[in-house]
Amino acid sequence: MNSIYKKIEFDFEDIINLKSTNHQQTFVIKGSDRQFNYNTNFTIIKRVDFDNLLWKQLSDKNIPKFEGVGIKKIIETKTGYELIGELKENKSKITVEAKYIIAADGYSSYIRRSFFKNLKFNHRIASRYYYNPKTKINFPTSIIFDDEIIPGYFWAFQMDNNIYNTGVYLAENNDQNIYEMHNYFMQKYFSHILPKKEFSTWSIPYNTDFSKLARQNIILTGDAAGLCDKMFGHGIDNAIISGYLAIESICKLEEKENTYSLSEIYRYKLSQYLLETLSNAEKTYETVKNNKLDFLGTLETIIKQTI
Ligand SMILES: Cc1cc2nc3c(=O)[nH]c(=O)nc-3n(C[C@H](O)[C@H](O)[C@H](O)COP(=O)(O)OP(=O)(O)OC[C@H]3O[C@@H](n4cnc5c(N)ncnc54)[C@H](O)[C@@H]3O)c2cc1C
Repeated sequence: MNSIYKKIEFDFEDIINLKSTNHQQTFVIKGSDRQFNYNTNFTIIKRVDFDNLLWKQLSDKNIPKFEGVGIKKIIETKTGYELIGELKENKSKITVEAKYIIAADGYSSYIRRSFFKNLKFNHRIASRYYYNPKTKINFPTSIIFDDEIIPGYFWAFQMDNNIYNTGVYLAENNDQNIYEMHNYFMQKYFSHILPKKEFSTWSIPYNTDFSKLARQNIILTGDAAGLCDKMFGHGIDNAIISGYLAIESICKLEEKENTYSLSEIYRYKLSQYLLETLSNAEKTYETVKNNKLDFLGTLETIIKQTI
């Protein structure tokens, strides 16, 4: 696992150096009756700022790119694909030809729906709300597994300027009203009513079957491939790694002596770098779910064994 981070270290270093928000070492992982600290390095940054950092990295390199374009249609041609995009600003059309497509268009991926029609992933639901208290408060960055929600959780991550990134990650197959649940936690921990209009929800997919994530010359990466951690729901790292592996797979395919298909190469690489992490997340989820009485104790033991 370390070696993949080393290979793409340059990009991560740049992101870390450019970012303005805080580095942290400790999550407080909390339940109704106990808590423990999880020590790890992580960065808390608004999604929009993070995307801008990535975009800036791309802008520093001499790579053709289009911003504000939605892909509306893809036509298979003799030599590859023709992608037809629409500029959001004025609805004008842009056409790009490509030999390969690496799909990084998220959970609702148009490319997956068009070319991988039978591919569907299990998912959990998450919500997010940026809370800006009127006065300075000091609530530690926390993941809270209250009895009402385990093995789902409520999170509150302290950002710059006294802003908290808060959210709820529901357990799988949980049909509780996520707004009600999020609002309940905002009132319990911050005495604050969650404004409905500033609250949004998303699906977080999880998938460890890597056998169908490429066909012909198209590869699915990130959320389009369902590569999120089932236990905690993180997927940014996996999205970046799978993007890198997709490029490596295409390079391998282009080698003269290669006899494998793109799907076989990509599956092998994902198995090498992501299978263990994603499978462990699924196992952790199942284990802690089945140990409701000592949910946090079980989770703490698993975390201590893996770091
Ligand atoms: C509330 C919430 C909190 C999360 N917190 C974390 C966290 O703390 N840490 C973590 O690691 N992960 C977190 N995740 C998961 C993480 O956000 C995703 O796993 C990650 O963003 C996946 O990256 P991606 O590039 O595959 O897809 P996305 O980030 O979804 O990006 C897809 C992009 O494709 C674009 N797109 C879609 N369709 C088209 C089209 N037709 N044409 C052109 N462009 C298109 C979209 O506009 C979007 O910009 C969280 C998710 C949620 C919902």
